[in-house]
Order: sequence, then C-alpha cells, then structure tokens
Amino acid sequence: MHHNFLFDLDQTLLNFHASERKALEIVVTENGLEFTEDCYAHFKAYNKSLWLELEKGTISRTELFIRRFTDLFEFCEGDHTGLDPLTVNNEFIYTMSQNGVLMDGALGFIEKLTDNVKDARCYIVSNGATINAEGRIRSTGLDKYLQKIYVSEWMGVTKPAKEFFDMVLEGVGEPKETCIVIGDSLSSDMLGAQNADLASVWFMPEGDIEQAKNKYGIDYTASSFDELLDVLLKWASD
Ligand SMILES: [Mg+2]
Repeated sequence: MHHNFLFDLDQTLLNFHASERKALEIVVTENGLEFTEDCYAHFKAYNKSLWLELEKGTISRTELFIRRFTDLFEFCEGDHTGLDPLTVNNEFIYTMSQNGVLMDGALGFIEKLTDNVKDARCYIVSNGATINAEGRIRSTGLDKYLQKIYVSEWMGVTKPAKEFFDMVLEGVGEPKETCIVIGDSLSSDMLGAQNADLASVWFMPEGDIEQAKNKYGIDYTASSFDELLDVLLKWASD
C-alpha cells in the first residue's frame, strides 16, 4: 500500500498561463497575424467559457478547439483567409508542449514530499490535451517524480465526473482511502474529489473559503507549497 497523491496539473504544479501566453504569441505571429495583449486577454476569456461548457458536457473537445481559434482569427489584425482553426490549434498545442513553466517552488516541493513520504506515489490528474500535458511536464523535469499522468483527452472522460476518478482509482489499484486530490479548481478538482468520495486539498484557495469547504466537502486548504507540504505530511502520517 502507498500514499497516492493525485495532483491537478495547471496552476497547481505548472504555470499554464505563462506557457500559454508564450505559445500563443509564437503561433499567432508565425501565421501572419498581429499579436497584442488584447488578443491574449480575448483568447483567455473566450477559451475559459468554452472549457466551462466542456466541463458541463454541452460541447465537445473538437468544437472547443475550432471555436477558440475561429474566434481569435476574427479578433486579431491581419489576413486570416486560408488559416485552418484546427491546424493552428494543433500548432499551438505543440508549441505549448515544448514550453512548460513550473509554478514557483513546485519542484522543490515535490522533492521534499517524496523524500519525506517513503511510500509516496505521485500522479497527475488533468483536464486537457495529452501532448500538451505530457510535453510540458517532460520539459520541466517533473516527470521523474511521477508514477503516471492521467489526462482527460486519452481517458475520454473529464473532471469533475466520477468516471474520471474511477478510471484513475482502477489504475492506482489501491483503496480510495490511500488517495488524496490536490488542486486549485473548485469546479473540477474539488467537485471531482467530492463526486468520487476522495480526500481533498484546495490549493491556493480564494473567495469565501469556509462556504466552499462546506459546499464541496473539502478536507484541507493550503496557500503555499510550504503549507501544502505540511498538510500532506500530516495526512500521510495519520
Ligand atoms: Mg488547475
């Protein structure tokens, strides 16, 4: 039996926004359009609303990929005739996959965790594109601490669905009491942990924390990697 840590990826261990901004600038510019901060802000806002729709199950991943670039082409200055949104989306995902950026202190944190918990097994549980997640993880050196990377794209199920975590638990092969979910998102990570009846840590909580803890049955919160390490060491020693 092990202590199984199920980490969300983005804004938990990796800085998604830093990679995304860099990749978007490269891809937009290489396709002959003008990149501005407004383009990035526009892309982010629309993309976020599409991901929420995907989480609700009202659109597919392919629709999301097409719609976010069709929309961006209209917004950016420049001639977009002849540009294919899915092709540009694939270029964007590939470029991002080569440009992983760690959250400050993430590598030191996971080193200390695995040093201190001898039977630790670390997993990633992420909504997103497989090549994007795996490539960014590899480009940062995080991969050597990980047992396995669970990504919604290849799994065919998305957090917060119970089925997502059922598939993870089947792969882990140990009782749910040995697992804890760590993530920054209420709507995917904390709700997912609640749906699957797993222990949870809300990382970098904000807003009405007590209300959220009650609503989502959150066990712990942590506002820094130092706090997260304390919480997880305590959980592992109980
Ligand atoms: Mg996240």
